[in-house]
Amino acid sequence: MFVDEHSAKQLLAQAGLPVPTGGRASTAEQAVDIARRLQVPVVIKALVPAGGRGHAGGVRFAEEAEAAGSAAAQLLGSVVQGHHVDQLIVEEQIAIAAEFYAAIVTNSSLRCPVLLFSPEGGVHIEQLYAERPAMVLSLPVDLRYPLEPARVQEWLGRHASEHPGLAGAFVRLYGLYTTIDAELLEVNPLAWTQAGDLVALDCKLVVDDGALVRHPELSKSEAPGTALERLARTKGLTYIELDGEVGVLANGAGLTMATMDAIESYGGRPANFLEVGGDAYTKAAAALEIVVSHRQVRSLLINLCGAFARTDIIVEAVVTGWRKIAPSVPVAASVHGTGEERAAHLLRDGLGVEPFETMDDAVIAAVMMARRSAEGGDGTP
Ligand code: GDP
Ligand code: MN
Repeated sequence: MFVDEHSAKQLLAQAGLPVPTGGRASTAEQAVDIARRLQVPVVIKALVPAGGRGHAGGVRFAEEAEAAGSAAAQLLGSVVQGHHVDQLIVEEQIAIAAEFYAAIVTNSSLRCPVLLFSPEGGVHIEQLYAERPAMVLSLPVDLRYPLEPARVQEWLGRHASEHPGLAGAFVRLYGLYTTIDAELLEVNPLAWTQAGDLVALDCKLVVDDGALVRHPELSKSEAPGTALERLARTKGLTYIELDGEVGVLANGAGLTMATMDAIESYGGRPANFLEVGGDAYTKAAAALEIVVSHRQVRSLLINLCGAFARTDIIVEAVVTGWRKIAPSVPVAASVHGTGEERAAHLLRDGLGVEPFETMDDAVIAAVMMARRSAEGGDGTP
């Protein structure tokens, strides 16, 4: 599970690692309030689950509250690194003397946590490592024994003596990493301030999904994703919102991806990734509701291929969902394999839709319907 930066920083603070003072905002007014309360120059950051925001314009600086408000207004509703921005972090600006990279990652081939440090942080660590591997120090750790501060001190060498507190910061990071069952805990940059302190300016924390039962406190933190993505998660569905117009309801991840590719190759754009395979089999009604709720959807493509999955059971659920919400989008369908005859019958009766002979025909129809309804028609062929 990806823990958002604001929640991750609260955990860092609890673990004894200083973080900038600030808060979370979802409106420009809230951003102004936080900046006013802080009474110092602030940083306004898009709270999205991706790095590289600095380069993408997702990190702004403001000297006073009014400017923080306009920066916030610009960021909210924009897209940063492919993510819609609906929340921000507003924090005090830190006067930086140096930016370090500090991380602990679970290394699956070594089967242990590895501490990583670079005196040149703030940048893409993968790129730095590719170009100048000597700039990245690493220390594999044996989970069976406590991490000795002296060991970390020795590993960091002159960096530790030049920057008092650095070894201690790693020990505290490691403490958090183990207690929270992290797979990745990355602080980039870990700032060395002009006053000679260490402050975590950014934090990326990924917790092992298998350990979430041990951390009920994490479910309280805001999960990432759009409103529909969060809703889908509560219903046990994997839904990823995209910016196309053709809503996709297919079974199995493979067929769903092939369907999305086919839409693209016929000149359309999928509005979502969502599969109703595996144990999501009987959740087609909820799935339909989520797919057609995406405001950009102009047509719906139902593409089912049954082997173990019974297409008629999926369609039955779709029809139930359809009756409940009565969406106004036109539908193109292709149904093949186990249960296809009954599925076709249910589609005719329930939705008034005749399935196409082939998947390609259904995809072409869905793309045309989306195009027509975008041009103002009702989309029906
Ligand atoms: P990322 O680009 O998504 O990793 O976002 P970061 O939170 O790491 O911010 C990107 C860059 O903005 C950092 O590497 C810093 O150079 C700069 N930055 C962020 N916060 C501060 C701050 O408080 N003071 C200063 N001077 N720079 C900051
Ligand atoms: Mn960063």
